[in-house]
Amino acid sequence: MRILLIEDHPALAEAVTDALRRAGFAVDHASSAAKAREMAALAPYALILMDLGLPDGDGLKLLPGLRANGRVPVIVLTARDQLSDRLAGLDGGADDYIVKPVEMPELVARCRAVLRRPGERGDTILCVGSLALDTVSRTAMVDDVPMHLGRREVGVLEQLMRAAGRVAPRRALEEAIYTFDDEVGPNALEAAVSRLRRALASAGCTLPIVTVRGVGWMLAKEKRP
Ligand code: CA
Repeated sequence: MRILLIEDHPALAEAVTDALRRAGFAVDHASSAAKAREMAALAPYALILMDLGLPDGDGLKLLPGLRANGRVPVIVLTARDQLSDRLAGLDGGADDYIVKPVEMPELVARCRAVLRRPGERGDTILCVGSLALDTVSRTAMVDDVPMHLGRREVGVLEQLMRAAGRVAPRRALEEAIYTFDDEVGPNALEAAVSRLRRALASAGCTLPIVTVRGVGWMLAKEKRP
């Protein structure tokens, strides 16, 4: 899952980005409304975390445009703690409202809570055979035993499970696991898929990840006969 953080305070942006990455999310950071509009048009986000006081405008005015491509949940993050501002945030279509200063564990928990709300994105627990993935806590399990996977491997697995039995195109995998700031080598995705294959095999998962040359990868729904 990829999250867009819109925040113009550099230290806070760094702290939030770190906390969310440690929780297994891919995070893009926009420091202005203009940058946020650009990024939102280019990448698929599962959640938008937005400061209201931006150098080039009020965050709330961004909301309708950011959602033009579908219903993305939005959490407003702001120092304005007056009730009237909170109500304007919630009435303006925000899904939650966090007043700064905020402790990072609380912020991450509030993000997870919003991501777990039933919506158009469907179930937050994906299951294929003996394999299960909680897309919000970013935990994968084989036969109910949790696996230890890196952030990118979980991202690859999520896309493969969502497309199980069909090919997940390379581009969809890249968009889901890399942020605009990531330095991505030519074989980075192949390497992540290899690590995932090894991890699944050593956890006893027999579902193969099939390479479809030039297109992408497919998680087979059943093991090879
Ligand atoms: Ca601000």
